[in-house]
Amino acid sequence: MMARTRERLVVVGNGMAGIRTVEELLKRDPDRYDITVFGAEPHVNYNRIMLSPVLAGEKTFDQIVLNDRSWYERNGITLLTGEKVETIDREARTVTSVGGRTVGYDRLLLATGSDPFIIPVPGHGLPGVVTFRDMFDVEAMLRKAADGGRHAVVIGGGLLGLEAANGLAVNGMKVTVIHLMGTIMERQLDEAAGFLLQRELEDRGIDVMTNADTKAVLGDGHVTGVLLKDGREIPADLVVMAVGIRPSTGLAKAAGLAVERGVVVDDHMATSDPAILAVGECVQHRGATYGLVAPLWEMARVCADQLAGRRDSAYAGSVTSTKLKVTGIDVFSAGDFGGGKDCEDIVFRDAARGVYKRIVLKGDRIAGAVLYGDTKDGAWYFQMLREAENVAPLRETLIFGQGFGGQGFGGQGFGGAAANPKAAVAALSDGAEICGCNGVCKGAITRAIADKGLTTLDDVRSHTKASASCGSCTGLVEQLLELTLGDGYQAAAAAKPLCKCTHHPHDDVRRLIVAGELKSIPAVMQALEWKTANGCHVCRPALNYYLLAAWPGEYRDDYQSRFVNERVHANIQKDGTYSVVPRMWGGLTSAKELRAIADVVDKFAIPTVKVTGGQRIDLFGVKKEDLPAVWRDLNDAGMVSGHAYAKGLRTVKTCVGSEWCRFGTQDSTGMGVKLERMTWGTWTPHKVKLAVSGCPRNCAEATIKDFGVVAVDSGWELYVAGNGGMKVRECDFLTKVETEEQVLEYCGAFLQLYREEARYLDRTAPWVERVGLDYVKRRVVEDGEGRRALFARFQFSQMFSQTDPWEERASRGIDSHEFAPLATVG
Ligand SMILES: Cc1cc2nc3c(=O)[nH]c(=O)nc-3n(C[C@H](O)[C@H](O)[C@H](O)COP(=O)(O)OP(=O)(O)OC[C@H]3O[C@@H](n4cnc5c(N)ncnc54)[C@H](O)[C@@H]3O)c2cc1C
Ligand code: SF4
Repeated sequence: MMARTRERLVVVGNGMAGIRTVEELLKRDPDRYDITVFGAEPHVNYNRIMLSPVLAGEKTFDQIVLNDRSWYERNGITLLTGEKVETIDREARTVTSVGGRTVGYDRLLLATGSDPFIIPVPGHGLPGVVTFRDMFDVEAMLRKAADGGRHAVVIGGGLLGLEAANGLAVNGMKVTVIHLMGTIMERQLDEAAGFLLQRELEDRGIDVMTNADTKAVLGDGHVTGVLLKDGREIPADLVVMAVGIRPSTGLAKAAGLAVERGVVVDDHMATSDPAILAVGECVQHRGATYGLVAPLWEMARVCADQLAGRRDSAYAGSVTSTKLKVTGIDVFSAGDFGGGKDCEDIVFRDAARGVYKRIVLKGDRIAGAVLYGDTKDGAWYFQMLREAENVAPLRETLIFGQGFGGQGFGGQGFGGAAANPKAAVAALSDGAEICGCNGVCKGAITRAIADKGLTTLDDVRSHTKASASCGSCTGLVEQLLELTLGDGYQAAAAAKPLCKCTHHPHDDVRRLIVAGELKSIPAVMQALEWKTANGCHVCRPALNYYLLAAWPGEYRDDYQSRFVNERVHANIQKDGTYSVVPRMWGGLTSAKELRAIADVVDKFAIPTVKVTGGQRIDLFGVKKEDLPAVWRDLNDAGMVSGHAYAKGLRTVKTCVGSEWCRFGTQDSTGMGVKLERMTWGTWTPHKVKLAVSGCPRNCAEATIKDFGVVAVDSGWELYVAGNGGMKVRECDFLTKVETEEQVLEYCGAFLQLYREEARYLDRTAPWVERVGLDYVKRRVVEDGEGRRALFARFQFSQMFSQTDPWEERASRGIDSHEFAPLATVG
């Protein structure tokens, strides 16, 4: 028999995809090729994903080697390390390395991987700026940490950036992660899981700055820091750029192969030249590129089939899943978790264990999954996702995982019985912890119920502290009451939940935000075990308000949680245009302001100008994209937003008072201006209107306002909780005071009580009716010390809210995307 002439296979790239393809090929047809492998790195083939454990000191390089030199020798493979291929001559079928070595091929395999992206900001090339791609980078980072480098900045809060941050922190560096988006790992995790991950990293001493955009890397001869676009500076002896990767396509492009984002391949991994195949991160298949290893294994199998002369297999693209390799942090995500109209979320949260799970269903199939804190079922969900398994029979128990009530899916008799919570609680041992916040176990609760004759939830709370803090064990405590007392337990009529996303009513949410020091929407949702991933149009604005009210200066307004008028700082009208109302303090204006308004009306062809019931001028028919320019012109004349759209102070209406009116007893206009200067910009549960009249003739209609002031000979009468709208309500008389300072103090205290205790979207009238006027009088009138404390808290919070939103948007470009004109199509 004649010996078969071996073909020549040249592999460019000694990385994970190239060598996996060779391994697969050797299994299929070990004698077919003379194989030569070029690797730009000086190393043998190693497991790149394990660079993170090497950086963290959990593995050595030797432990991550996949194939040592003897493997290449045993298989007759010529390995050329430290030799980067520079050119391909497709006519001659040769490749030539940087060192000038030329090798001929019959088949060429490109497996050049990716290049890390470097943001081209000033200073990006300074010594001390590294990427995180290969062993060389890891060695550079370890050297810097060992040389006494103290501060590291990692730019990029994705998978690689966070693994780098963790590794550097383990090596003793003070690490700051800078991330452009609002949530870290936002491509793999939703807001809730991203929040938990950030909290965990911060607990480990890593600073995480979100919404942070890098302006420059600082340093003279070596990096010394990073400057952000908002002016902040972070010191750094080392900067790691981990902002993304780009398929490494230079070689293929220069050889004239079809290249878009990656080297374009067909379902058989062939490039536009049939003699040249490509695998791994360098390729683009059906428009997609990949940055994870799982797709490479599938590509390698198909590619090896091709090289072995089998044409029956085809690569159809991959669904990927992600795990973060930071010891002690369990995060898993797979598929599409963006949700959407035809998707349904199943969410499970366990605040005490720090667990969050979310399964996104599309019809009866799993479309995506995000797991935090308990990822043991990740592979199970992923398998069902990839195989488009019908999960309808498991729907009830799916979120509890594979171990719940049965052996698994696939016709193996999954239990699938709906959980019976009462039986589960009955089965708990006496030592089982019920209330994690206060460390109260089941036995302590049932004993207290029996021994002390407790019959209500409040009784249990006050005797044992169970359910008194975060409230997430309330359901369990109620079940214990029911189990212990049987028919003798009458559950208190439950207050209405805030919305369908939670079982907590408004008042509990407010109380628990303060008690649990919860300072962000994701923190509230996790601690109070929200039933949905991101909340809804009802709870998000309410939570945003409660957090603003509870943590002035600390909590940053989540403008996405606001209604459209509050987002664009103008009122949308029925034709889609907006109305604009500048503030006029106490209803006063001037020739300068009126001229500026007239100019704006002409310049922007504003069709209607109207004086409002609150004594302001309203410009109707402004186009959305004109809003910033209109505001800029009004700002230039000294006018700020009139907040005519806000759940906050709208107007202080005044009469002319003693300055002009012969009946006037006090300067009502001056008093109104002072009140408006004090209260503008405040966020409240609903809109708030004030008025001041100069005598009991009450021309400013002060007795149908949220807070009304009527001047009398000996001082000022104060009225609260009036309403002139759909349900007219005359104010309640609060008290009479003597001085203007007292008017301001009582007004601020009343508004603060309303801010702190009313439910979101309660006007003052229904709130006062609910809590009772006597209660309000007790807090604002009779308790002098309490009143002064309320007033002090009001003034404190005003320090952070009296910024003009128009100026921020017109001159500083905040939220500019809101006002960009829509593209014209066609
Ligand atoms: C720190 C880190 C952690 C990661 N963690 C995970 C993870 O947890 N899970 C996961 O799925 N994925 C992870 N990845 C991604 C994973 O490592 C890649 O998807 C995989 O390595 C890609 O394989 P590849 O062969 O396409 O590219 P590579 O492994 O990068 O191999 C390409 C090789 O080609 C060489 N080369 C390039 N051009 C030439 C040339 N002209 N001549 C000669 N040689 C050349 C390069 O030097 C390189 O050695 C991680 C990556 C990094 C960097
Ligand atoms: S309320 Fe009294 S002071 Fe004010 S305008 Fe009317 S009559 Fe004059």
